[in-house]
Amino acid sequence: MGVVSSVKTATRSSGVLRNPRTPTMIATMGYQLDTPVQYVKRVGPRRAKVLEAAGIRRAEDLLHYFPFRYEDRTRFRTIDSLRTGEETVIEATVLIAQNRATTRRNFTIFELLVRDATGAIPVKFFNQPYLEKVFRRDTRVILFGAPQVDSYGGGLELLNPEFELIEGESELRVHTGRIVPFYRKIGAVTPRIIRGIVFGLLAGLEGVADPLPEKLRRAYDFPELSAALRQIHFPDAPAAERERRELIQQLEERKSPAHRRFAYEEFFRFQLGLHIVRQERGEKSKGRKIVTGERVRNRLKQILPFHPTEAQKRVLKEIVEDLKKTRPMSRLLQGDVGSGKTIVALQAAAVVIENGYQTALMAPTEILAEQHYATVTRYLQAVPYRVALLTGSVRGKERKEILSRLQAGEIDLIVGTHALLENPVKFHDLGLAVIDEQHRFGVLQRSRLMEKANEPDTLVMTATPIPRSLALTVYGDLDVSIIDELPPGRKPVRTVIKSERNRAEAYEALRRELEAGRQAYVVYPLIEESEKVDLRAASEMAAVLQREFPAHRVGLLHGRMSAPEKDAVMQEFKQGRLHLLVATTVIEVGIDVPGATLMVIEHAERFGLSQLHQLRGRIGRGSQGGLCILVVERARSREAYERLEIMRRTNDGFEIAEKDLEIRGPGQFVGTRQSGVPEFVFAHLVRDRKLLDLARRDAGVYLQRLIQEDAVRLIDDLASDWRRRYRLFDVG
Ligand code: ADP
Ligand code: MG
Repeated sequence: MGVVSSVKTATRSSGVLRNPRTPTMIATMGYQLDTPVQYVKRVGPRRAKVLEAAGIRRAEDLLHYFPFRYEDRTRFRTIDSLRTGEETVIEATVLIAQNRATTRRNFTIFELLVRDATGAIPVKFFNQPYLEKVFRRDTRVILFGAPQVDSYGGGLELLNPEFELIEGESELRVHTGRIVPFYRKIGAVTPRIIRGIVFGLLAGLEGVADPLPEKLRRAYDFPELSAALRQIHFPDAPAAERERRELIQQLEERKSPAHRRFAYEEFFRFQLGLHIVRQERGEKSKGRKIVTGERVRNRLKQILPFHPTEAQKRVLKEIVEDLKKTRPMSRLLQGDVGSGKTIVALQAAAVVIENGYQTALMAPTEILAEQHYATVTRYLQAVPYRVALLTGSVRGKERKEILSRLQAGEIDLIVGTHALLENPVKFHDLGLAVIDEQHRFGVLQRSRLMEKANEPDTLVMTATPIPRSLALTVYGDLDVSIIDELPPGRKPVRTVIKSERNRAEAYEALRRELEAGRQAYVVYPLIEESEKVDLRAASEMAAVLQREFPAHRVGLLHGRMSAPEKDAVMQEFKQGRLHLLVATTVIEVGIDVPGATLMVIEHAERFGLSQLHQLRGRIGRGSQGGLCILVVERARSREAYERLEIMRRTNDGFEIAEKDLEIRGPGQFVGTRQSGVPEFVFAHLVRDRKLLDLARRDAGVYLQRLIQEDAVRLIDDLASDWRRRYRLFDVG
């Protein structure tokens, strides 16, 4: 009760943004947003199960299940003016209703003859004998359908029309006589049933408070919540036909004022939460003092074996500025594969170490951790830093020693895996945590690292590029650093597209590379529904290839393997004991195998562009440059070809991500979850980009007001709600 009342107070003072998850305490006769779907009329326990399986648990979820299509069923015609094939609504009375005998088994025809003041028309329903109980002589009915010519008699008839009985003047017209919504079927619950349920739900909805502050709603002329829901599900139909057509188009593109309102609200909520979380972070003080001077600058030069790119310099500067602030850093470092993130992280580590604090560099797998350790020790040869590696395989005496040195502050930089999160691991004074390939770590794991230290600065590195413009729109320019430039002299991977018919050419390329003593990958897409089939296909392919190249060793890597098994295979490949690697799974991100120069990707059309780009980033890490062959299924649509053309044309991961986003939308943007772009339900990052800008600005202003009004409880609620929804994306 405490929460509810305090939210209410806060609500009164500062607009009406309340936490929608706060359950309503007072039961009333009508439906509330949090009424369980089971209690909504026409749902009942059986349908409720189906709906719940689809994530629809409360009335609100049902109302958020938006139609994807609409039909104009407003036009009434008299029976004498019906035209063949034209969808029409008629209002009529039943003259005759009967099931007709048919000669075929399992096939029934229920037949009506209906009339209005101008004439009569036969109506047939197939395989719905129960309609006998629905229609009687003199039943008044609304029918919707396209009349067809009866193949026997030559007159017009209606086949399986949508219908609704009129039981009195006050009868609500759900399925006809209006712009009618179409929903995607949910299990056995048909679109028509959903329509009926939603209609009843909207009619009984009571006391819905609009969470969007009224001032903002007014400013953009957005409809109020319940009005918006009505306009989305059962829109008012304009009188003119052309206007109705335009409205339907707008609704289907989700650009109606009502749709935009939901998109805006979602962005606003997201941005508000983001502002709050940042604010909280800003209030924290890490109690560390980081300075940079001549000495630190010299050290950084000592570490660098090459001239940094402009992008690397800019990003390092952004990071160092953050390190010097009192609030803990929480920064996402994005850079395409091979853009040189490691050295930047290492320079940041050097700044921290020079100031007397420790750094942890965490990788998702043992093999990546070992690779980092090797790289890092190479870079740090000229400086006296004490570096150690801690993974699951480091055991016994060695482990004990590392742990005690770490706690005593005798290790400056520790490279490791999840092993760093385990309980016995204690830092002397952890100043910076660098997390490579963010998506492999959950938030919980990250927060466990945070607990081990006094608000360490965190830098999360990811190679999945979010389109630059998008990252900036979502986050503002605060917490994202982007390396958008490759080191000079890099030979780009050449990409070619081949149809299955020309697979022999791909084999030839494989033969060439293998015989020249180089290594290659063959990648299979993994489709979750048919994992077994794909697995089989990949194993068979591995066997075929082994026969084809008997002088070389072929390995197999797939998603069903355990992490140590995968690591073992990767290790063998890395050490050159395997020459050809067939993989169903995304090849371990970030692994460097300089000898691998060729990648053949089967069924390339099934991958997202960003994913293809990630994959081909695995080759050409040595001095030779690489070749990527995209094998496309026979007779694939031109669209698939055009899409893949982009891969041939450019090596710029950001450009590719942008295209991916355009073509597939952020929902399917492969690696969305991994890349740190939140997933929105109503809003579309490309379509609604302008709204996102507005929401970001508004959220900042609104939060300032909440703070002035001291609405602490509300702010806390908003923050925890935000964390629940967007936790995958919370880099802090
Ligand atoms: P990623 O961003 O994919 O982690 P890495 O940090 O592994 O990339 O760098 C890829 C390769 O490029 C490494 O071999 C690294 O030594 C090299 N490299 C990084 N920065 C530069 C630079 N400025 N000039 C030349 N080579 C560089
Ligand atoms: Mg890397």
